[in-house]
Amino acid sequence: MPDGDPQLKPRTLRDPASLVQAGLARPEAEPGLRRVAEHFAMAITPAVQALIDRDDPADPIARQYVPDVAELVTRPDERSDPTSDAPFTPVKGVVHRYPDRALLKPLLACPVYCRFCFRREVVGPDGGLLTEAELETALDWFAATPTVREAILTGGDPLMLSARRLAHIMGRLSAIPHLDIIRLHSRVPVTAPERVDDRLIAALSTDKAAFLCVHANHAREFSPAAKVALRRLSQAGVTLLGQSVLLRGVNDSSQALENLFRAMLSTQVKPYYLHQLDRAPGTARFEVPIEEGRALLRGLRGRISGLAWPTYVLDLPDGAGKAPLGPDFAAIKDGEWQVEGPLDGVPYQHHSRHTNSENSDS
Ligand SMILES: *Cc1c(COP(=O)(O)O)cnc(C)c1O
Ligand code: SF4
Repeated sequence: MPDGDPQLKPRTLRDPASLVQAGLARPEAEPGLRRVAEHFAMAITPAVQALIDRDDPADPIARQYVPDVAELVTRPDERSDPTSDAPFTPVKGVVHRYPDRALLKPLLACPVYCRFCFRREVVGPDGGLLTEAELETALDWFAATPTVREAILTGGDPLMLSARRLAHIMGRLSAIPHLDIIRLHSRVPVTAPERVDDRLIAALSTDKAAFLCVHANHAREFSPAAKVALRRLSQAGVTLLGQSVLLRGVNDSSQALENLFRAMLSTQVKPYYLHQLDRAPGTARFEVPIEEGRALLRGLRGRISGLAWPTYVLDLPDGAGKAPLGPDFAAIKDGEWQVEGPLDGVPYQHHSRHTNSENSDS
């Protein structure tokens, strides 16, 4: 059976000309976007295209994926490797920065290419698939490093691997006695949910504790198909977590964050991290200042379920790690703890029980 007219079948958009054809960029923008495409990969899957409201020039879905000439401007404080993966790479495809856990990056391809990506200098459709030999060396490194209790599959997007290769990796990791946890970070369930089929679910099977952290930044990304994909993963025994990036024009209001976290919870996804933007080249248009991020989260505390509350983190440069950014509700004032009530905003004194000469035994 022929597929029918290819024009009618939605396809992943991978270049500026097809963006214009799909009505997602104006024809006069094409030359500029072609220059952007020389530097950074682009891809917008059919599932994501279907989420975009073409009548809204500020559409929060389009903003995440449609390139912009602003990406050609790199600021002095932007770095090509903002999270410093390179110096913490013992063997190709592994990043070991914390004692008890390490990343495995089996490929650098993603279903979509986010315009704010912190690894935008390295991700791309042709990039970074480890060879069989490199993958075996990386897996051997996990087997030979007993301090590591958790393997974190990332990339790129590990759910872009073939089911066969994913099953091989899961099998090798599952056989390593000192590993307790296998965690995957993926954007596939919301941007290419059709990939979460029986073979992929079977490939994820493991006796280890399995977590999948889904990257989503807007409530609308939880489409009916995405919810089905996530439901299948949770039914397969995978604990679902959510990670989001705080992004100007996408989720930079208390209401947008509330909607996002509620959409996650209703799909059995526990919001885990809200990331401060990493300063990768050409991403300045997405940055929300930390003080604003803290105020947004402060406005949500008490108003939404405690289950919805993520940890707001900044990945420090030079491999110093991800640091929580608050907001804090407690501060020391005149030697006493002062704790702000999330419901009323009123400061409450919490008297310290000092261990001092009065109540010591001496
Ligand atoms: C983010 C990250 C992790 C995971 O950190 P968690 O705080 O456990 O989510 C592990 N290794 C590296 C190199 C990372 O960047
Ligand atoms: S899915 Fe993740 S790694 Fe891939 S482009 Fe988006 S932010 Fe980057």
